[in-house]
Amino acid sequence: MTGATALERVSAAAGRTMRALTLIADRKIELIDVPAPPPPGPGEVQIGIKAIGLNHIDVWGWRGMAFAKRKLPLIVGSEAAGEIVAVGPDVETLKVGDRVVAYGALTCGVCKACRDGRDNLCENVGSIMGFHVDGFARDLVNMPARLVVPIPAGVSFRDAACAPVAFGTVQHMLFDNAKLEPGETILVQAGGSGIGSTAIKMAKAIGATVIATVGDDAKAEKAKALGADHVINYNTDRFETVVRKLTGKKGVDVAFEHVGPDTFNGSLLCLKRGGRLVTCGSTSGQSITMNLFQLYLQQYRIFGSFGCSMRNIREALAKMAAGLSPVIDTEVPLAEFERGLNRLEGRQVFGKIIVMF
Ligand SMILES: [Zn+2]
Repeated sequence: MTGATALERVSAAAGRTMRALTLIADRKIELIDVPAPPPPGPGEVQIGIKAIGLNHIDVWGWRGMAFAKRKLPLIVGSEAAGEIVAVGPDVETLKVGDRVVAYGALTCGVCKACRDGRDNLCENVGSIMGFHVDGFARDLVNMPARLVVPIPAGVSFRDAACAPVAFGTVQHMLFDNAKLEPGETILVQAGGSGIGSTAIKMAKAIGATVIATVGDDAKAEKAKALGADHVINYNTDRFETVVRKLTGKKGVDVAFEHVGPDTFNGSLLCLKRGGRLVTCGSTSGQSITMNLFQLYLQQYRIFGSFGCSMRNIREALAKMAAGLSPVIDTEVPLAEFERGLNRLEGRQVFGKIIVMF
């Protein structure tokens, strides 16, 4: 390629193909060849993807959000880790060979929210990777350098792949929104999920008392092994009753929600007066009926939380570097991605599913 013009390089790249995990139809993901991206443009880097974290969004979109139509085919993957293989003009902060993760949405970088470091409130958010536009589950992806964060030494690609969504989301929920403090008690719903297991570990790490709910006894053992002080099997016990007993009828300071209608009002009932509920999901449905007397008399605070800030990703990676590793359920090579997907669909999953490129 010596002496090739920029246009020739783009043309050459356009002829190349790469592997991509692509959503062909609802719940149908295939490994196909797609055109490789052109060399990175001004302000961009090209990342060679090494690991992606599978999330429910990859398979189902956001369940219960029928209005959020997706255009198929679509390359999945909303969180990933990789290595920079090329840098575009004007990129000075990153270089070829740097190990990195990338933000999961194309934010504008100039609105007030972005300038204040509240990237997930961007007023001009273009697209969410792997949902509105092609995601990270491919050999190469170009990203704006300002949305890329270096991975600290000692953190593997596999673990780092959990930073942008699983760790970042929980960091934002617990510490920016619910403002969980050492010595407080937190109820973590569905403690065996990717974010539930992360919440247990992050809350324990600051010295909170953790009550977790899980769906079976095998998961209860695993949640205890992560450090949960009390674990409730919600299929055999009413968690509201057990939480009242465990807290001497006081209730918990914080409830960590992402299940939705099946547990939401129960989680509110578990709060002490002035308690905080933070939620980032509603996998069991979309709507609930809420008792407003209870809401204002008990002075509950409820936080909706979605995604995280760039700062949260740096905080998440710093926690990993300090030894707070993510809970990995399964790591599969790209050729066996279906094994990972099947695992994600099953109820036995405990922690994150990672596909290695
Ligand atoms: Zn913005």
